Amino acid sequence: MNEKWKSWMEVAQVLHETPGAEICCPECKVGMLEFKDELIRGLDKVDGYIFCNGCGAYAVLSRVSKNNP
Ligand SMILES: [Zn+2]
Repeated sequence: MNEKWKSWMEVAQVLHETPGAEICCPECKVGMLEFKDELIRGLDKVDGYIFCNGCGAYAVLSRVSKNNP
């Protein structure tokens, strides 16, 4: 696992513990990160987009949707 990916995983961890947290971009250290969840219908998964409003860096973290009974 490289350093870049590791820092994004840390961002995801913070978000998981503190929903709505304002987090600085781990790549440019200037921009703020924005978040968007996209439900993939039919596949029962959610793609969580994390992207920087400064440099445009982004990561996508997929997870299984918990909306199913
Ligand atoms: Zn950035």
